[in-house]
Parts: sequence; structure tokens; C-alpha cells
Amino acid sequence: MPSLSKRITTLTGGGSDGWDVFYRARAMVAAGEDVLELTIGEHDIRTDPAILDAMHDAARRGATGYAAVPGIPDLRRRVAARLTARTGVETAPENILITPGGQAALFAAHVAVCNPGDRALYLDPYYATYPGSIRGAGGVPVAIQTRPEDAFQPRAADIAAEAPGAASLLINTPNNPTGTVYGRDTLEGIADVVQDHDLWLISDEVYDTQVWEGAHLSPRALPGLAPRTLVVGSLSKSHAMTGSRVGWVAGPEEVIGHLITLATHTTYGVPGYIQEAGCFALDQGHELEHLIAAPFRRRRALAQKVLAGQQAVRLIPSQGAMYLMLDIRATGLSGEGFANALLDAHRIAVMPGESFGRAAAGHVRVAMTIEDARFAVALETLCDFAAAQAG
Ligand code: PMP
Repeated sequence: MPSLSKRITTLTGGGSDGWDVFYRARAMVAAGEDVLELTIGEHDIRTDPAILDAMHDAARRGATGYAAVPGIPDLRRRVAARLTARTGVETAPENILITPGGQAALFAAHVAVCNPGDRALYLDPYYATYPGSIRGAGGVPVAIQTRPEDAFQPRAADIAAEAPGAASLLINTPNNPTGTVYGRDTLEGIADVVQDHDLWLISDEVYDTQVWEGAHLSPRALPGLAPRTLVVGSLSKSHAMTGSRVGWVAGPEEVIGHLITLATHTTYGVPGYIQEAGCFALDQGHELEHLIAAPFRRRRALAQKVLAGQQAVRLIPSQGAMYLMLDIRATGLSGEGFANALLDAHRIAVMPGESFGRAAAGHVRVAMTIEDARFAVALETLCDFAAAQAG
């Protein structure tokens, strides 16, 4: 066959992706074994039936044709109103492009700001698709390490060191995989760097409703940042709609205009009946968002209790998102070694920190996505196992 493009064949950057434990766990489940899976960031409680009814009703009413490519006006209006209310930055429907999930928004945002070969910065540890999304958009991904001793809050000086000549900086708060919520100081430091070096800031805020400690601050609300910030949002996490694929990019109208052109030539929009269900979901207000975040809030409190009574595992302060990052360096094992051994010994699957970059080596990420009692038992077992390894 003719050769494939370099862009597609090098998208993941090659090398081991650190997801072997995940695939092994999935194979065990497929073979009928009882595995406690604490791997993937997906709610154990599915999309609210009332949202599905709204989707069905919309489809039956005829919303099955091509929908407006930028997003239907009702959804763009609601997302704009939500951003205005949550951030205090006046946001109009013209500042919003509806996308098939936050993932498409991440890709589109980088296409908008990176020329081929431009350096695009992101912070390590990182959500698995970041470097590939940047490469797919033609950029060169540059990871900046954060540190466990800072609870993975990035240091402005570390970002500034890579900033000269770069096109963009991608951040994520509340953070997957660390559970860190960036404080005002962190974000003000970032604001200075992106302004000093004339960078675009791409702010992934898909976990903005999952904050357990402190408050979510959108950097778009900081002085001077709105004209250089693209916010990535989604209903996946806030409304348990991961499979519906509905998200957005929010930013300056001129950028959104170009992104609408990109959408016309790539996705051609998001199904109308799903967008109408998105409107219904947003109309339920904070109450539904709280309800969907509640299991994670509860399990995080449970985890704090379990982990308080032992020394072998250290919990990185878990401030938000549906994950716990556990420092297991006292065991002497790598995150990957620990995760593999835990899976073999106890049929408990967690993600090695190394799956998310170099900065979280010697850690494991636990997704709080199984029912409370089983979750508590899994954590107790993990701690006992770590203590035995630590000797
Ligand atoms: N950003 C982060 C940090 C995520 O964890 C995810 C999904 N796990 C996404 C973006 C993409 O989510 P979606 O495409 O479902 O909106």
C-alpha cells in the first residue's frame, strides 16, 4: 500500500504508553474474572433517564437532520450563560463553538493556534490524549514537569523556561490525573507567563463541577486573559454524558469564527437531538450537577478516612475531579510495578502514574468510579498491600 502520513503514524510519539495494566485488567474481565476496576474516568451511574427522554423526544420531533454547525442557538446561548455565571466574564453565543466532546475541542483549539512545527506546552502529569492532540494539530508537544512535593501545582518559572517562541500552553484544572485544583497564585503566575511571552492559553475545564476543596477559578476571568484564552468544556463529566459527545470551545469571536470553518470541514457539527438533550441537562441547573458529583465527593471523604490510618501510601491532597493520586514510593516499586503486582495479587486495577508522564512516576491513580463499599475495601486492600511491600 502507499505510505501513510508522518502525522498519523507518529501521532502517539511511539514507545510504551503505560496502559498495559489497563489492557491486562480488561482481558481478565473479558475472561470472566472479578476485577475491581479503578482505572477509567467514567461515572458508574449512567446518564439520567430524564436527559435520555429529552433526547428521544427531540429526535421524534424531527431533530435528526443536519444541525447548525456552530451548535444550535439554544445550546450556544445556554453554554454562554453558564460561562458568564460561573466566571463573571461576559460571554455571548458567538464566543461558543459546540463540539463532539471536550476531546474535539482540545484538538480544534490547537489547530487554531499552532502553525506546523510550533511548540505547544502542556503540564506533566497530563491527560493521556494531550501530546497526541497537539501532534495531530501539527504542533510539537513540550511537557513541563510539575512536582509531587508541590502537590503538582505548576511553577511559573518552570513554564517561563520553555515559553520563549512557543505558541500555546495547555492547562487542566481541576486536574486529571492528580486531583489538584490550581489556586489563584498558580493561575496568576501562569497569567504573567502567557502575557510576557504572548502565548495562547488553552484551559481544559471539563471537571469544573467536581471541586471538593477551594473553588474552581477559570483563568479566562483573570485580568487581560480573555482575549488569549480558549476554554475547553464538556457535559461528559458534569452531566454523566460521556457517550453523548457534547462539549465546546469558548473564546474570542474571531477564533470561534475560524473554528466554525474547521468544524464545517471536519465534524459538521453535533447531532441536534443530542444538543437538545444538552439544553435540557443544563436547564436542570446546579442541582443535577451536585447530584452527579456527589458519589465522588462521598468516596473522596471515604478515602481520606481509610488513608489516614496508615503510612505506606501518601494521598496527594485531593481537591477535585474523580481521581486520587497516591504516592507509593515508600514501597520501592514504580507505579507500573505496583499496579501490576496489585492486579496479580488482589484483582484490583489502578493506573500507573507513569501512564500520565514522568512527573507522576512512583504514583498510582485511583478512579473513584465504583460503588462505595467496594471502593473502601479496594483502598484498604491497596494500603495493606503497600504496607507489606514497604516491609
Ligand atoms: N480533558 C480531560 C482532562 C479529560 O479527563 C477528558 C476525558 N477523560 C477529556 C478532556 C475529554 O472528555 P470528553 O471528550 O468526553 O468531553
